[in-house]
Amino acid sequence: IVDDAKFLFLENDFSSSVAQADWSAKKMVWIPSEREGFEAASVTKETGDEVLVELSNGQKLEVNKEDVQKMNPPKFNKVEDMAALTFLNEASVLHNLKERYYSSLIYTYSGLFCVVVNPYKMLPIYSEKVVEMYKGKKRHEVPPHIYSITDNAYRNMMQDREDQSILCTGESGAGKTENTKKVIQYLAVVASSHKVKKDSSPGELEKQLLQANPILEAFGNAKTSKNDNSSRFGKFIKLNFDVTGYIVGANIDTYLLEKSRCIRQAAVERAFHIFYYMVAGAKDSLRGSELLLEDFSCYRFLMSGHVEIPGQEDDQMFEETLEAMEIMGFTQEERTGMLKVVSTVLQLGNVKFEKERNSEQASMPDDTAAQKLCHLQGINVTDFSRAVLTPRIKVGREVVQKAQTKQQADFAIEALAKAMYERLFRWILARVNKTLDKSKRQSSSFLGILDIAGFEIFEDNSFEQLCINYTNERLQQLFNHTMFTLEQEEYQREGIEWTFIDFGLDLQPCIELIERPNNPPGILALLDEECLFPKATDVSFVEKLLSTHTTHVKFSKPKHQDKLIFTVLHYAGKVDYNSDSWLTKNMDPLNDNVTGLLSNSSSPFIQDLWRELGRVVGLETINKSKKGMFRTVGQLHKESLGRLMTTLNNTQPNFIRCIIPNHEKRVPALHSESAVHGVLEGIRICRQGFPNRILFQEFRQRYELLAAKAIPKGFMDGKQACALMVTHLDLDPNLFRIGQSKMFFRTGVLAQLEEERDLKI
Ligand code: ADP
Ligand code: MG
Repeated sequence: IVDDAKFLFLENDFSSSVAQADWSAKKMVWIPSEREGFEAASVTKETGDEVLVELSNGQKLEVNKEDVQKMNPPKFNKVEDMAALTFLNEASVLHNLKERYYSSLIYTYSGLFCVVVNPYKMLPIYSEKVVEMYKGKKRHEVPPHIYSITDNAYRNMMQDREDQSILCTGESGAGKTENTKKVIQYLAVVASSHKVKKDSSPGELEKQLLQANPILEAFGNAKTSKNDNSSRFGKFIKLNFDVTGYIVGANIDTYLLEKSRCIRQAAVERAFHIFYYMVAGAKDSLRGSELLLEDFSCYRFLMSGHVEIPGQEDDQMFEETLEAMEIMGFTQEERTGMLKVVSTVLQLGNVKFEKERNSEQASMPDDTAAQKLCHLQGINVTDFSRAVLTPRIKVGREVVQKAQTKQQADFAIEALAKAMYERLFRWILARVNKTLDKSKRQSSSFLGILDIAGFEIFEDNSFEQLCINYTNERLQQLFNHTMFTLEQEEYQREGIEWTFIDFGLDLQPCIELIERPNNPPGILALLDEECLFPKATDVSFVEKLLSTHTTHVKFSKPKHQDKLIFTVLHYAGKVDYNSDSWLTKNMDPLNDNVTGLLSNSSSPFIQDLWRELGRVVGLETINKSKKGMFRTVGQLHKESLGRLMTTLNNTQPNFIRCIIPNHEKRVPALHSESAVHGVLEGIRICRQGFPNRILFQEFRQRYELLAAKAIPKGFMDGKQACALMVTHLDLDPNLFRIGQSKMFFRTGVLAQLEEERDLKI
């Protein structure tokens, strides 16, 4: 660990006393800079609203007072917890993260949460030795690390019997999934040291727990323009522990699988990994007679053929995936069954329809692909063709056979491919959960880890972005509310006066705009309403939104724009949504003639996959007929998010903000916009309170020389002494509070005292 210590510990900075003098003498500040975000400068003159500053290269500038941000004293350089900063501003936060990042210190605390910047390289900070180092240590005893967050959550769970959650958020490629894996890796070591000797297969559960990820990633991750291994679904992993702290089982929930990726991918992106693993890796009879595989170039759904991932061999990954499945206890039939479904999805892309010469009706002149996929699925090809080309459809009370147009048939095939893949994913999850849920022993509490896509603002934002951003609104609300609750608790413990503001409430209007069921109905409810109208269109949906929410503070309609566009003001920014195809996306229709065939397949595996008809969300199938009504995608997402929030609300949450250093993959430079995004919100809340705290004794020792005359000779109680000191210093009562054991200050106050102290020494 000695060699690697520099990746965790802050090195002593011997130049700091010089720097301190320099800082005091020069009145250092941060001013905006195009290149760096912010640049250091020293104030030479202040006149009204303007400030004259000098840059390090000697250049003199006049800047507006409002653009100047105070610089922290050098003793705060690379500080491990940014809440300690006397000046909590954007420039200082960015500077601190940057300085630490350039020294390979990727984890930093910011009061109640932990920030991590993606290093894009393997750092020696996840070794067994490091795990040992964090075991049982309090947060302040060790450098910032995901292990420390995890260990503390684990100890809190054991001590207080309170369920815990670790919530990783951040944009794509920021490191959420990597950090999630580290949490599990840590607990798999720490929580299995309680192992009972008699256990016949020691650590088997831990092994399986670690193998669940490669399987889920093979089927749920893909290469995107932002991340070569991007998770295309959200997940919540619940680890269950017994009273002695031993892992007794686990359960995984997933959210919003991006199933459209099986049929369409942007240039340079890939479909889910498993497609490439399988086509590149399956050999001999598995490849030929069992899976009926073809070359990459033969599959229309793999739009760019075999897109490779640098440093990764797809055929080798195929072996590893199969191995992981074996460790998980998947049988040979199950494994082949899964791959047959993947192969079928690819074959569906090769089914081609043509318009018949004398009518609008579609036909399938060449049924090679259909034959192959029907063979793979264990269904009759004639039945299949009929179900797709002339399905029986309910019209009023009658059932009639209705010929489909080419467009309708194409649509049905694509919907089928997506639904099939989604069902497979759900099946895998259920299967993994079956293995992981070993609760022979009673579980007493759990630790949940959430890995979910962060806020998204693209050029074009669709229904998927609305769902993701809505999820993030709810998570941010939980975050704000937690900060508020914890602050409040601390203030109450110390018995200080404070007007409590719950910043969680700030998010309520936007959340209601999206999820409110009625009076007035929110976006999701209005979309559902439109889905029931036979004549409704995406445009009529936006018109309805407009007439319902014209005056809503979080809603607007950009002028002179496309009829399909509307705007929502999220906490993280304004997002223009394009409602093209939202009615279809929300209803997600599926040809039930075909699904009926599949549920009667000759293959037990396929039968099982389609056993419950109806829609799939996460792990659940909502049975249409049983509940007697049609459930929309929006509604189901709202419900599954609601359940997640209820679970999270009953846990003690721990927040991890993952930050992407810049948008050019793998360049180790920290750019401003991407970095502070998300961090500032937490800091904004922090600033409303009294973020700087100092024990009475320490306060007295450090600043007594500023108020020496205030305290009479002889013994005096710490609290009393501090009270006399602040009176003598003539501090505005709004700037501080006197607690039971410490002083509380608003940001900036201690810096000023520090400055005065420097002048005295
Ligand atoms: P997200 O889940 O937020 O989209 P990932 O966790 O998949 O992002 O991270 C993207 C990539 O960045 C990973 O594949 C890995 O190469 C790199 N990465 C992320 N975090 C770390 C880390 N702590 N150490 C080393 N590499 C990392
Ligand atoms: Mg991910």
